[in-house]
Amino acid sequence: MKKFLFALVFFAVALLIVFSFLRYIQAISVTETTATTSTTTTLVSRFSFKRFPVLEYHLVSCPEARWSRTPENFRSDLEWLYVNNYYPVNLRDILDDFPGLPQGKTPVVLTFDDSSSSQFRYLADGTLDPDCAVGIIKAFHDQHPDWPMRATFFIVIGTNNPDRNIFGQKELREKKLKQLTGWGMEVASHTYWHDRLNKCDEKFCRYTLSKSYQELKDLSGQEIVSLATPMGLYPSNEAVFSGQYQSIKYDYKLVCEVAGGLQPVPGSPRFNPYHINRIQTIWPEWEKFFNRREY
Ligand SMILES: [Zn+2]
Repeated sequence: MKKFLFALVFFAVALLIVFSFLRYIQAISVTETTATTSTTTTLVSRFSFKRFPVLEYHLVSCPEARWSRTPENFRSDLEWLYVNNYYPVNLRDILDDFPGLPQGKTPVVLTFDDSSSSQFRYLADGTLDPDCAVGIIKAFHDQHPDWPMRATFFIVIGTNNPDRNIFGQKELREKKLKQLTGWGMEVASHTYWHDRLNKCDEKFCRYTLSKSYQELKDLSGQEIVSLATPMGLYPSNEAVFSGQYQSIKYDYKLVCEVAGGLQPVPGSPRFNPYHINRIQTIWPEWEKFFNRREY
């Protein structure tokens, strides 16, 4: 009898263990399914577009050339983007899923490299040059209030070319950077001396990136989170994009390439914040990516 009772208890305990185990397995699989479903749902509903353009400008001057867009063509770029349902955002807006993006619009980031005076210049009489990039963006916004002033400027500070040293006009550098952020645009880094990061050791990479970060932050009053690597050259260790050099802590969250085509949205498996694709604003690229031809 004792043996029978013992066997019964043993059987009951075993049954309980098996049952609990099965419940546990079921709970895990339900949790995983829910997680997968919610991720998929989020991805599908988060954006109405899969990719968006990050446009790359250098000089805004005549004549039109590989690294130069004429003021007239830059104006026509804005007009074309406006009528084709694009909406300007800063690069950093990627980090917050494009706040303020109207329903049905596709974001476009206008980026400017090398901080030449052709991008932001004051004339001798103190007025904003209507043919520099900022002058054109401001005039376009004044005519189209539903097109906010948004653009990201990758700025060089220590170059030997005085025209590219924070837009030239040394005495106006702080005023210009504060105006850019005040108007809603983004101040970003292009390293301190326009350095070839593939040739720099890790210590120098951190030196130029932290120095640029600190000076741009001090002058603009804005946190600096975006970087474009000069000539698209990357350091061997991409960990240098974030961290500390001496007492300066810095964190570049978005790093731009010089090419690559349309940029996948955040959350896409092909999204890499240290390798943001860009499209150069020359006619063959407009034709290739937007089917837009020279007039
Ligand atoms: Zn450059």
